[in-house]
Amino acid sequence: MTEYTVSVDLEACDGVFACLVRDGRFAEAEDGLVTLPGGDREEGRLTATFDDGNREDAEQAAAACPLDAISVEEVEP
Ligand code: SF4
Repeated sequence: MTEYTVSVDLEACDGVFACLVRDGRFAEAEDGLVTLPGGDREEGRLTATFDDGNREDAEQAAAACPLDAISVEEVEP
């Protein structure tokens, strides 16, 4: 299984939550923006790394985001 990182540009995210229905790991944070399990928030960016078979879900969430705020990248071994 390949590790991948999901990151969200929180400056772009406006809490439409189209991502939630594509990938159940996305959830609403207390401030109305998005959060991910094990996610780190730093300088307006949320990042979380996963090693599971759900990369496609994250990519669907990225494709569904109307603001193009989500990116999914493979972690180089
Ligand atoms: S779909 Fe995009 S803009 Fe909407 S909550 Fe998710 S990341 Fe934020």
